[in-house]
Amino acid sequence: MAKSIMHNKQDRTCYLCMLLNGDYDTRTGLQEHHAMPGTANRKLSEHYSLKVYLCLEHHTVGPYAVHNNARLRRMLQEKAQTVFEERYSHEEWTRAFVSNYI
Ligand SMILES: [Zn+2]
Ligand SMILES: [Zn+2]
Repeated sequence: MAKSIMHNKQDRTCYLCMLLNGDYDTRTGLQEHHAMPGTANRKLSEHYSLKVYLCLEHHTVGPYAVHNNARLRRMLQEKAQTVFEERYSHEEWTRAFVSNYI
Protein backbone atom coordinates (compact mmCIF):
# COMPACT_ATOMS: atom_id res chain seq x y z
CA MET A 1 0.00 0.00 0.00
CA ALA A 2 1.30 3.45 -0.93
CA LYS A 3 2.58 5.61 1.91
CA SER A 4 0.46 8.61 2.79
CA ILE A 5 1.87 11.95 1.67
CA MET A 6 -0.19 13.69 4.38
CA HIS A 7 0.63 11.75 7.53
CA ASN A 8 3.20 9.12 8.43
CA LYS A 9 1.48 5.97 9.66
CA GLN A 10 4.65 4.94 11.52
CA ASP A 11 4.25 7.96 13.83
CA ARG A 12 1.17 6.26 15.35
CA THR A 13 -0.34 9.68 16.04
CA CYS A 14 -3.89 10.84 15.29
CA TYR A 15 -3.82 13.51 12.59
CA LEU A 16 -6.65 15.53 14.12
CA CYS A 17 -5.46 15.17 17.73
CA MET A 18 -2.26 16.84 16.48
CA LEU A 19 -3.94 19.45 14.35
CA LEU A 20 -6.77 20.43 16.70
CA ASN A 21 -5.30 19.76 20.15
CA GLY A 22 -1.54 19.83 19.61
CA ASP A 23 -1.55 16.29 20.99
CA TYR A 24 1.31 14.25 19.52
CA ASP A 25 0.85 11.19 21.75
CA THR A 26 0.90 7.79 20.07
CA ARG A 27 -2.39 5.88 19.90
CA THR A 28 -3.54 2.35 19.44
CA GLY A 29 -6.42 1.39 17.16
CA LEU A 30 -5.87 4.18 14.66
CA GLN A 31 -8.00 3.97 11.55
CA GLU A 32 -7.12 4.96 8.02
CA HIS A 33 -9.21 7.73 6.52
CA HIS A 34 -9.22 8.82 2.88
CA ALA A 35 -9.18 12.60 2.82
CA MET A 36 -11.40 12.90 -0.24
CA PRO A 37 -14.85 11.32 0.19
CA GLY A 38 -16.96 9.75 -2.55
CA THR A 39 -16.35 6.60 -4.57
CA ALA A 40 -14.25 8.13 -7.34
CA ASN A 41 -12.33 10.45 -5.04
CA ARG A 42 -11.66 7.67 -2.56
CA LYS A 43 -9.90 5.75 -5.33
CA LEU A 44 -7.90 8.86 -6.20
CA SER A 45 -7.09 9.40 -2.52
CA GLU A 46 -5.69 5.89 -2.47
CA HIS A 47 -3.81 6.43 -5.72
CA TYR A 48 -2.22 9.68 -4.53
CA SER A 49 -2.01 8.49 -0.90
CA LEU A 50 -4.11 11.32 0.48
CA LYS A 51 -4.79 9.49 3.71
CA VAL A 52 -4.55 10.23 7.40
CA TYR A 53 -4.72 8.08 10.52
CA LEU A 54 -7.34 8.93 13.10
CA CYS A 55 -8.46 7.88 16.58
CA LEU A 56 -12.07 6.71 16.85
CA GLU A 57 -13.29 10.06 18.25
CA HIS A 58 -11.84 11.81 15.23
CA HIS A 59 -12.89 9.19 12.69
CA THR A 60 -16.41 7.86 13.22
CA VAL A 61 -17.59 8.30 16.82
CA GLY A 62 -19.09 11.52 18.18
CA PRO A 63 -19.34 15.17 17.13
CA TYR A 64 -15.61 15.64 16.41
CA ALA A 65 -15.43 12.65 14.10
CA VAL A 66 -14.65 13.59 10.53
CA HIS A 67 -17.50 11.39 9.26
CA ASN A 68 -19.98 13.38 11.40
CA ASN A 69 -18.50 16.84 11.08
CA ALA A 70 -18.62 18.73 7.78
CA ARG A 71 -16.23 21.43 8.98
CA LEU A 72 -13.52 18.88 9.82
CA ARG A 73 -14.14 16.99 6.59
CA ARG A 74 -13.64 20.21 4.70
CA MET A 75 -10.48 20.96 6.69
CA LEU A 76 -8.96 17.63 5.66
CA GLN A 77 -9.88 18.28 2.02
CA GLU A 78 -8.10 21.61 2.20
CA LYS A 79 -5.02 19.97 3.76
CA ALA A 80 -5.09 17.26 1.12
CA GLN A 81 -5.15 19.80 -1.70
CA THR A 82 -2.35 21.83 -0.10
CA VAL A 83 -0.07 18.81 0.28
CA PHE A 84 -0.97 17.57 -3.18
CA GLU A 85 -0.21 20.89 -4.86
CA GLU A 86 3.12 21.17 -3.07
CA ARG A 87 4.09 17.82 -4.54
CA TYR A 88 2.37 17.99 -7.93
CA SER A 89 0.58 21.10 -9.18
CA HIS A 90 -2.70 22.95 -9.06
CA GLU A 91 -3.40 21.89 -12.65
CA GLU A 92 -2.97 18.25 -11.75
CA TRP A 93 -5.26 18.66 -8.73
CA THR A 94 -7.99 20.18 -10.89
CA ARG A 95 -7.58 17.41 -13.45
CA ALA A 96 -7.97 14.74 -10.78
CA PHE A 97 -10.40 16.20 -8.23
CA VAL A 98 -12.12 18.99 -10.22
CA SER A 99 -13.27 21.04 -7.19
CA ASN A 100 -11.17 23.56 -5.37
CA TYR A 101 -10.99 23.39 -1.54
CA ILE A 102 -8.46 26.09 -0.71
ZN1 LIG B 1 -7.74 12.02 17.49
ZN1 LIG C 1 -12.92 7.57 7.14
